[in-house]
Amino acid sequence: MARYTGPKCRLCRREGIKLFLKGDRCYTDKCALERRPYAPGQHGRARRKASDYLLQLREKQKVKRLYGVMEKQFRRYFEKAERQRGATGTNLLRLLELRLDNVVYRLGFANSRSQARQLVRHGHFLVNGKKVNIPSYLVKVNDVIEVNEKSREIPVIKEAQEVVDRRGIPGWLELDAANFKGVVKALPERDDITFPISENLIVELYSK
Ligand code: SF4
Repeated sequence: MARYTGPKCRLCRREGIKLFLKGDRCYTDKCALERRPYAPGQHGRARRKASDYLLQLREKQKVKRLYGVMEKQFRRYFEKAERQRGATGTNLLRLLELRLDNVVYRLGFANSRSQARQLVRHGHFLVNGKKVNIPSYLVKVNDVIEVNEKSREIPVIKEAQEVVDRRGIPGWLELDAANFKGVVKALPERDDITFPISENLIVELYSK
Protein backbone atom coordinates (compact mmCIF):
# COMPACT_ATOMS: atom_id res chain seq x y z
CA MET A 1 0.00 0.00 0.00
CA ALA A 2 1.31 3.39 -0.96
CA ARG A 3 2.38 5.86 1.67
CA TYR A 4 3.72 9.39 1.80
CA THR A 5 7.52 9.43 1.95
CA GLY A 6 8.25 13.16 1.62
CA PRO A 7 9.16 15.63 4.41
CA LYS A 8 6.72 15.31 7.29
CA CYS A 9 7.14 18.69 8.91
CA ARG A 10 6.10 20.30 5.66
CA LEU A 11 2.68 18.67 6.10
CA CYS A 12 2.21 20.24 9.54
CA ARG A 13 3.31 23.62 8.22
CA ARG A 14 0.86 23.34 5.32
CA GLU A 15 -2.01 22.51 7.66
CA GLY A 16 -0.88 25.06 10.26
CA ILE A 17 -1.18 22.57 13.12
CA LYS A 18 1.06 20.03 14.81
CA LEU A 19 0.19 16.60 13.44
CA PHE A 20 2.80 14.86 15.64
CA LEU A 21 4.29 12.91 12.76
CA LYS A 22 7.85 12.72 14.11
CA GLY A 23 7.52 11.36 17.60
CA ASP A 24 9.79 12.91 20.23
CA ARG A 25 10.94 15.80 18.07
CA CYS A 26 7.36 17.15 17.97
CA TYR A 27 7.53 17.87 21.71
CA THR A 28 10.76 19.85 21.52
CA ASP A 29 11.63 23.33 20.28
CA LYS A 30 13.13 21.67 17.20
CA CYS A 31 9.59 21.32 15.86
CA ALA A 32 9.54 23.00 12.45
CA LEU A 33 6.12 24.50 13.06
CA GLU A 34 7.40 26.28 16.16
CA ARG A 35 10.36 27.63 14.23
CA ARG A 36 8.55 28.52 11.02
CA PRO A 37 4.83 28.83 11.74
CA TYR A 38 3.77 29.52 8.20
CA ALA A 39 3.06 27.42 5.10
CA PRO A 40 6.04 26.03 3.15
CA GLY A 41 7.15 27.36 -0.20
CA GLN A 42 7.81 30.73 -1.77
CA HIS A 43 4.29 32.02 -1.10
CA GLY A 44 3.97 30.44 2.32
CA ARG A 45 3.54 33.75 4.10
CA ALA A 46 1.12 35.20 1.55
CA ARG A 47 -2.47 35.72 2.62
CA ARG A 48 -4.94 33.39 0.94
CA LYS A 49 -8.64 33.95 0.59
CA ALA A 50 -10.33 31.15 2.52
CA SER A 51 -13.12 29.85 0.28
CA ASP A 52 -15.48 27.13 1.52
CA TYR A 53 -13.77 24.69 -0.81
CA LEU A 54 -10.33 25.54 0.55
CA LEU A 55 -11.49 25.00 4.14
CA GLN A 56 -13.04 21.65 3.25
CA LEU A 57 -9.99 20.53 1.28
CA ARG A 58 -7.58 21.50 4.05
CA GLU A 59 -9.64 19.65 6.65
CA LYS A 60 -9.63 16.51 4.55
CA GLN A 61 -5.90 16.76 3.90
CA LYS A 62 -5.23 17.35 7.60
CA VAL A 63 -7.05 14.17 8.66
CA LYS A 64 -5.49 12.10 5.87
CA ARG A 65 -2.05 13.26 6.90
CA LEU A 66 -2.71 12.79 10.59
CA TYR A 67 -3.54 9.12 10.09
CA GLY A 68 -1.06 8.58 7.21
CA VAL A 69 -3.69 7.50 4.71
CA MET A 70 -3.57 8.19 0.97
CA GLU A 71 -6.48 9.61 -1.04
CA LYS A 72 -7.82 6.38 -2.50
CA GLN A 73 -7.93 4.57 0.80
CA PHE A 74 -9.34 7.61 2.57
CA ARG A 75 -12.16 7.76 0.02
CA ARG A 76 -12.85 4.07 0.68
CA TYR A 77 -13.13 4.76 4.41
CA PHE A 78 -15.55 7.56 3.62
CA GLU A 79 -17.71 5.29 1.46
CA LYS A 80 -17.72 2.67 4.19
CA ALA A 81 -18.61 5.32 6.78
CA GLU A 82 -21.52 6.46 4.60
CA ARG A 83 -22.94 2.94 4.50
CA GLN A 84 -22.82 2.59 8.29
CA ARG A 85 -25.56 3.78 10.61
CA GLY A 86 -25.08 7.09 12.38
CA ALA A 87 -23.23 10.28 11.47
CA THR A 88 -20.87 9.74 8.52
CA GLY A 89 -18.19 12.06 9.93
CA THR A 90 -18.06 10.23 13.25
CA ASN A 91 -18.06 6.85 11.49
CA LEU A 92 -15.15 7.99 9.35
CA LEU A 93 -13.07 9.04 12.35
CA ARG A 94 -13.95 5.82 14.14
CA LEU A 95 -12.74 3.73 11.20
CA LEU A 96 -9.46 5.63 11.14
CA GLU A 97 -9.02 5.20 14.90
CA LEU A 98 -9.58 1.45 14.62
CA ARG A 99 -6.66 0.93 12.24
CA LEU A 100 -4.08 -1.34 13.82
CA ASP A 101 -1.22 1.15 13.32
CA ASN A 102 -3.24 3.84 15.12
CA VAL A 103 -4.09 1.48 17.99
CA VAL A 104 -0.41 0.55 18.37
CA TYR A 105 0.42 4.26 18.52
CA ARG A 106 -2.42 5.03 20.94
CA LEU A 107 -1.29 2.22 23.25
CA GLY A 108 2.17 3.78 23.32
CA PHE A 109 4.07 1.01 21.55
CA ALA A 110 5.32 3.55 19.01
CA ASN A 111 6.14 7.24 19.06
CA SER A 112 4.30 8.12 15.88
CA ARG A 113 1.77 6.51 13.57
CA SER A 114 4.39 6.06 10.85
CA GLN A 115 6.68 4.27 13.30
CA ALA A 116 3.70 2.13 14.37
CA ARG A 117 2.99 1.35 10.75
CA GLN A 118 6.54 0.16 10.19
CA LEU A 119 6.56 -1.96 13.35
CA VAL A 120 3.27 -3.60 12.33
CA ARG A 121 4.60 -4.18 8.81
CA HIS A 122 7.63 -5.94 10.26
CA GLY A 123 5.43 -8.37 12.16
CA HIS A 124 6.06 -7.20 15.73
CA PHE A 125 2.40 -7.35 16.81
CA LEU A 126 -0.18 -10.04 17.44
CA VAL A 127 -3.94 -9.59 17.42
CA ASN A 128 -5.70 -12.24 19.51
CA GLY A 129 -2.51 -14.32 19.45
CA LYS A 130 -2.02 -14.23 15.68
CA LYS A 131 0.59 -12.21 13.83
CA VAL A 132 -0.97 -9.36 11.86
CA ASN A 133 1.30 -7.28 9.63
CA ILE A 134 -1.34 -5.15 7.93
CA PRO A 135 -1.30 -1.55 9.27
CA SER A 136 -4.84 -0.89 7.98
CA TYR A 137 -6.28 -3.96 9.77
CA LEU A 138 -9.39 -2.80 11.65
CA VAL A 139 -9.52 -3.98 15.23
CA LYS A 140 -12.77 -4.94 16.94
CA VAL A 141 -14.12 -4.69 20.47
CA ASN A 142 -12.41 -7.21 22.80
CA ASP A 143 -9.46 -7.69 20.45
CA VAL A 144 -6.17 -8.13 22.30
CA ILE A 145 -3.19 -6.41 20.71
CA GLU A 146 0.19 -7.48 22.02
CA VAL A 147 3.84 -7.10 21.19
CA ASN A 148 5.31 -10.29 19.82
CA GLU A 149 7.36 -11.90 22.61
CA LYS A 150 10.57 -11.79 20.56
CA SER A 151 10.07 -8.08 19.89
CA ARG A 152 9.68 -6.85 23.49
CA GLU A 153 13.31 -5.80 23.74
CA ILE A 154 13.20 -3.60 20.65
CA PRO A 155 14.48 -0.17 21.83
CA VAL A 156 11.89 1.92 19.96
CA ILE A 157 9.02 0.01 21.58
CA LYS A 158 10.57 0.29 25.06
CA GLU A 159 11.35 3.96 24.60
CA ALA A 160 7.82 4.69 23.36
CA GLN A 161 6.35 2.96 26.43
CA GLU A 162 8.47 5.14 28.71
CA VAL A 163 6.86 8.33 27.40
CA VAL A 164 3.32 7.10 26.80
CA ASP A 165 1.99 9.16 29.73
CA ARG A 166 2.73 12.29 27.75
CA ARG A 167 -0.11 11.44 25.36
CA GLY A 168 -2.31 9.34 27.62
CA ILE A 169 -4.27 6.22 26.65
CA PRO A 170 -7.79 6.90 25.32
CA GLY A 171 -10.69 5.51 27.35
CA TRP A 172 -11.69 2.93 24.74
CA LEU A 173 -8.35 1.14 25.10
CA GLU A 174 -6.82 -0.56 28.12
CA LEU A 175 -3.08 -1.00 28.47
CA ASP A 176 -1.38 -3.78 30.37
CA ALA A 177 2.13 -2.33 30.12
CA ALA A 178 3.81 -5.12 32.14
CA ASN A 179 2.66 -7.70 29.60
CA PHE A 180 3.05 -5.49 26.51
CA LYS A 181 -0.66 -5.87 25.81
CA GLY A 182 -3.69 -3.76 25.12
CA VAL A 183 -7.41 -4.50 24.83
CA VAL A 184 -10.06 -2.70 22.78
CA LYS A 185 -12.68 -2.14 25.48
CA ALA A 186 -15.21 -0.30 23.31
CA LEU A 187 -15.58 1.47 20.02
CA PRO A 188 -14.15 4.99 20.08
CA GLU A 189 -16.78 7.70 20.48
CA ARG A 190 -16.50 11.17 19.00
CA ASP A 191 -15.47 12.63 22.36
CA ASP A 192 -12.55 10.22 22.54
CA ILE A 193 -10.93 11.96 19.57
CA THR A 194 -9.60 15.15 21.07
CA PHE A 195 -7.55 16.34 18.11
CA PRO A 196 -9.30 19.37 16.58
CA ILE A 197 -11.16 18.03 13.53
CA SER A 198 -14.27 19.39 11.80
CA GLU A 199 -15.37 16.21 10.10
CA ASN A 200 -18.51 17.88 8.73
CA LEU A 201 -16.25 19.81 6.31
CA ILE A 202 -14.95 16.50 4.92
CA VAL A 203 -18.50 15.19 4.54
CA GLU A 204 -19.44 18.39 2.70
CA LEU A 205 -16.43 18.08 0.40
CA TYR A 206 -17.13 14.49 -0.57
CA SER A 207 -20.86 15.03 -0.88
CA LYS A 208 -20.52 17.55 -3.72
FE1 SF4 B 1 4.95 18.38 12.82
FE2 SF4 B 1 6.41 17.03 14.53
FE3 SF4 B 1 7.56 18.25 12.45
FE4 SF4 B 1 6.58 19.64 14.49
S1 SF4 B 1 8.30 18.21 14.55
S2 SF4 B 1 6.30 20.09 12.36
S3 SF4 B 1 4.75 18.44 15.03
S4 SF4 B 1 6.11 16.54 12.40
